[in-house]
Amino acid sequence: MLNYQLSLDFAKEQDKNDPLASYRNQFHIPKNNQGNELIYMTGNSLGLQPKQTKAYINQELDDWANLGVEGHTDAKNPWLKYHEYLTDSMAKIVGAKPIEVVVMNTLTANLHFMMVSFYKPTKKRFKILIEADAFPSDKYAVESQLRHHGFDDKAGLVLWKARQGEELARYEDLEAILETHGGEIALIMIGGVNYYTGQYFDLKRITKLGHKYGCMVGFDCAHGAGNVELNLHDSGSDFAVWCTYKYLNSGPGSLAGCFIHERHAYNRDLNRFTGWWSHNKETRFRMRDEFDQLPGAEGWQLSNPPVLSMAAIKASLDMFDKVGIKKLTEKSKKLTGYFEFLLKQLGEDVIKIITPNNPEERGCQLSIQVLNADKSLHNKLTEAGVISDWREPDVIRCAPVPLYNSYQDVYYLVERLKHILNE
Ligand SMILES: *Cc1c(COP(=O)(O)O)cnc(C)c1O
Repeated sequence: MLNYQLSLDFAKEQDKNDPLASYRNQFHIPKNNQGNELIYMTGNSLGLQPKQTKAYINQELDDWANLGVEGHTDAKNPWLKYHEYLTDSMAKIVGAKPIEVVVMNTLTANLHFMMVSFYKPTKKRFKILIEADAFPSDKYAVESQLRHHGFDDKAGLVLWKARQGEELARYEDLEAILETHGGEIALIMIGGVNYYTGQYFDLKRITKLGHKYGCMVGFDCAHGAGNVELNLHDSGSDFAVWCTYKYLNSGPGSLAGCFIHERHAYNRDLNRFTGWWSHNKETRFRMRDEFDQLPGAEGWQLSNPPVLSMAAIKASLDMFDKVGIKKLTEKSKKLTGYFEFLLKQLGEDVIKIITPNNPEERGCQLSIQVLNADKSLHNKLTEAGVISDWREPDVIRCAPVPLYNSYQDVYYLVERLKHILNE
């Protein structure tokens, strides 16, 4: 690991030697009223816009203007197959085989569609296990699935909680839950990287455990995709979902990804909701055929691909292809390690980092508790030009994103925080 130093010169030196430093220039960095670049630490919430995104979208707008409906087949990137242009790059990012991955719908919608197939409750085995501080949308989705199947959403929910006085959930507690309730749990659905603590769970370990007790296992990787090496195929999980507007920089509310393990690729018995885009491509436009399901993740699509959103995704994924998720996570570990080092200098009695300190158990985000702080601290940081994220009751989340954040960003962020704390 790097020998971190406190000086600004050290940060400058790291930026100079950073093999990914040039990528920052390929993004629009938001500025304040005086035209100075803000310190943007919320790529975990909405990733910044790559400068090339506009050209990718304009290509499709132009083809639409010039070709109308013929663009489906005659556009530079024929629209009928647009989702296919994303598959290989996305599969690399999440560590999956192309047949296991598709981009479609939005995140919470995909989570529901996955539960249509992988949450198959019976009278005896109907519960769903999630982590106690799951992202609200996931919790609501899971509760509504329970109700949809006629179960009580309180009785049907099993929570994996951190212990009293602790922030991170422990695996031995999950093991204990499964030992007692494993036979009642139909589905385990966990946020692969927890949005609040930044804890990156061991997907393989959770999957193995769940499968041992006969549960289906799925992950919401909204905070993992583009942030950590997910290795979804190797994890063995049944399904995963994620969005593309956080670490994958494809714009507000953009489409989501979906992983379905290869072992389910040809299974026609799994219940699912279908549309014409889940039907065999060769005969799709005969329009009269009996339903003939596509194999793999593509067989879960419903609609024809929304090309304008997908163009923004393509712009981003082309960049990820060039960098590679390995190089990205290498820098990420250094940059976040540096951030952690600087924060610790502020005094561990004042600052508590609730994110795991093992770099293998986190991505780039650090979730920080500041002694006696309330939202006014976050507001002061904003005034000082730092865009961070506040979560009640007392957590500031900062995500130095390796693709566009610099060592100097991190240096100045901690300097400004120190200044505010000393006031
Ligand atoms: C960001 C996020 C969401 C948001 O869901 P949308 O359907 O895209 O609005 C849901 N779950 C998790 C875990 C998230 O991080």
